[in-house]
Amino acid sequence: MTKRVVLIGHPVAHSLSGAMQQAALDHLGIDARYELWDRSPAELAEAIAELRTEEFLGANITIPHKERVVSHTDRQADEAHVTGAVNTLTKEGRKLVGHNTDVAGFKIAMDKLVGRQKMPRHAVVLGAGGGSRAVVYGLIREGFQRIVVFNRHLHRSEGLVKHFSRSAAHMDLRAMPWHESIIESELSKTKVLINATSIGLGSDESPIPAEILGPDLMVLDLIYANTRLLRDAAAAGCTTADGEMMLLHQGAASFTLWTGQPAPTDVMHAALTEARAHGIISAEGEPVPSEPVPSEPVPSGPAGA
Ligand code: NDP
Repeated sequence: MTKRVVLIGHPVAHSLSGAMQQAALDHLGIDARYELWDRSPAELAEAIAELRTEEFLGANITIPHKERVVSHTDRQADEAHVTGAVNTLTKEGRKLVGHNTDVAGFKIAMDKLVGRQKMPRHAVVLGAGGGSRAVVYGLIREGFQRIVVFNRHLHRSEGLVKHFSRSAAHMDLRAMPWHESIIESELSKTKVLINATSIGLGSDESPIPAEILGPDLMVLDLIYANTRLLRDAAAAGCTTADGEMMLLHQGAASFTLWTGQPAPTDVMHAALTEARAHGIISAEGEPVPSEPVPSEPVPSGPAGA
C-alpha cells in the first residue's frame, strides 16, 4: 500500500516541503506520497483524526496550527513538550506522537548566521507563534542571557514567556509591547534579530522600519525568501539569512522520524532549489500566491507541482 504523509496548514499553497519531501522519498525508493492539506482551525480535529488510519506515516504541521495541534496528540517527544508546539507527527499504531523538528532546524540556521563569530548572548525575537517557540527555546539552549519577544498581541508573547519560565529561570526572557521606539531601544542593545512573524510571507512588508536596523545586527528571517526585512537589513550592512536552512533541516529531521532512514539532504536541498526556481511556493516561507491553489498531492516531476 502506498503510504501517505501530509502537510497540514492554512494556507499551504504549493509547498516547497512537498517538493523536498517527495524527492527524498523517491530517491530512497520509499512508496509514499507527500500531500498538502489546507485545513482551517475548525477543520483541524477531523484532519488529525484521519491520520490515525494505517495508510499514514505521519504529518507536518505548519502555520497556524503548531500550538493547537498539541492537544490532539497522545504523547509529545521532549522538544514538542518543552516548546508546546508540534511541527511533526509520527505514529505508534493508532497513536499520534508530536515532535518539534523546528528546534533542530533553527540551530543549524543560527550556527550558519553567526558563522565563525562568537555566539551572541542577547536577542530580539519578533512573533510569538509556533515558530517563535522553537526559536526562543533554541536561543535559551544556546546560552542566550537576554531574549526580548515582541508580538502584535502582547498576551500571546506573555503566554510564551510564562510557558518557558522554568527553562529560562537562569536568564532574562521577557515580553514587551510592540512599539517601534521600544523595539529600536532593544535593538540598540542586541546583536541578533529574528523575525518569527509571518509578516513578509504574503506581502512585501517588513515588520519594522528600515531606519532602526544598525549595521552590527545579525538578522534571521524564518521566511524562506528575500523578504523586505532582509533587503533592508542587507542595505543597512547587517549579516542576514533567510529560512532556507531551517526549512531544509527541520524537514530532514521529520523525514528520519517517519522513515527511520537518514535523510538525503543533498537531494532535498536540490529539490528545494529547483522548486523555487520553478516558482513553487511554501507554507514555510514564500509569499502565498494571489490565486487559490488546490491542495493536491505533489508529484515529483521537475516542477514539483
Ligand atoms: P503562527 O500562526 O503560529 O504565528 C504567526 C505570528 O505572526 C504571530 O506572532 C502573529 O502575531 C504574527 N503575525 C501574523 N500576521 C501579523 C500582522 N499582520 N502583524 C503583526 N504580526 C503578525 O505561525 P508560525 O509561528 O508557525 O510561523 C511564523 C512564520 O515563521 C511564518 O512565516 C512561517 O512560514 C515561518 N516559519 C518558517 C520555518 C522554516 O522552516 N523556515 C519554520 C517555522 C516557521 P499575533 O500572535 O499577534 O497574531
